[in-house]
Amino acid sequence: MVPRVVFGNGCFQQLEEILLPKRKNSEAPFIFLVDDVFENQQLSTQIPKLFNDLIIYVSAEEEPKTGQVDALVKLIQTSFSEEPSGVIGIGGGTLLDLAKAVAVMLNNKGNSADYQGWDLVKRPAVYHAGIPTISGTGAEVSRTAVLSGPEKKLGINSDYTPFDQVILDPELTKGVSKEQRFYTGMDCYIHCIESLNGTFLNAFSQSYGEKALELCKEVYLGDIEESESREKLMMASWHGGMSIAYSQVGVAHALSYGLSHLLGVKHGLGNCLVFQHLEEFYPDGVQLFNKMKTKHNISLPEGICANLSESDFDIMINVALGMTPLWENALGKNWKTVMTPEKVKSIYKKI
Ligand code: NAD
Ligand code: ZN
Repeated sequence: MVPRVVFGNGCFQQLEEILLPKRKNSEAPFIFLVDDVFENQQLSTQIPKLFNDLIIYVSAEEEPKTGQVDALVKLIQTSFSEEPSGVIGIGGGTLLDLAKAVAVMLNNKGNSADYQGWDLVKRPAVYHAGIPTISGTGAEVSRTAVLSGPEKKLGINSDYTPFDQVILDPELTKGVSKEQRFYTGMDCYIHCIESLNGTFLNAFSQSYGEKALELCKEVYLGDIEESESREKLMMASWHGGMSIAYSQVGVAHALSYGLSHLLGVKHGLGNCLVFQHLEEFYPDGVQLFNKMKTKHNISLPEGICANLSESDFDIMINVALGMTPLWENALGKNWKTVMTPEKVKSIYKKI
């Protein structure tokens, strides 16, 4: 669990005060990994940079890669004589996962690809804090940092991965476009549906999932004003992330991983593209999803899989069917009798 969190409009201003006691000495810098949409923007001027602290702007155009993590770690290690005081990630799921992975790798030998999996990290990460600027993924609260590696897209899942501190300031999400807000927000909604309808459901995942779902409905179907909806979506993201931390995601995420692996489709959009065709598995969830999509005037891209070859489909099918825990959660121990390669292909063909 994340041990420390502050929430509220404007709480980003507390960052300086929060970091002060964590600074080891003037030679041990804080490294700020910041989404490059904020370069030359007001937020950048408010980052409490002192001594030799370093701000690195990173594009979120592509999802984080193991090679990118290793290059950042090398850059940091060769630039400073002392180990950093900490790593601060500012941005969406992409930047938050990068920050978590870099903090872990600064204290662990080898390449980040060696740690993709469950509980492979040997030593605690350096101090790391996360500051989301878009809501939905739950990456701010989860114990994983999802990375695309040479062989697989898989998270560094460990007790050392979660942030030591999270700053939830809904005002930071003001600049997000309508479409992106929908895609990333629906990631949260889909976390709730997959968790609440899964066989791994338990008292913890249910209570967090129900709260997150209620908030998503208020945000996407209610008539609330902008600032209230930003606050509620940020809380929904946190609770949705906690819900899957105690259980697992399901059909949409497994299939979305296939799309992302072959075509680079981003997580939130990929989930939406798949989820709309999952009435068979989540009838009520898909009905509500369509209502939200209509209300927010979102039209999803079509024909994404139209020109794929048979071997392309095979690659996506293999990635999707490799996500055993997700299928077990969604369909139970005998999931292979329901989710055959042909079935997976028939869903991809609709996208
Ligand atoms: P993102 O970080 O990829 O950002 C999406 C877009 O929004 C980018 O173009 C970014 O520049 C822009 N953006 C972010 N904040 C903005 C702001 N305030 N104003 C204007 N533009 C802004 O999006 P995401 O959906 O939050 O994250 C997706 C990533 O999260 C994927 O890599 C996925 O694998 C990961 N993920 C991780 C977990 C986890 O538990 N670790 C869970 C779900 C998803
Ligand atoms: Zn997700």
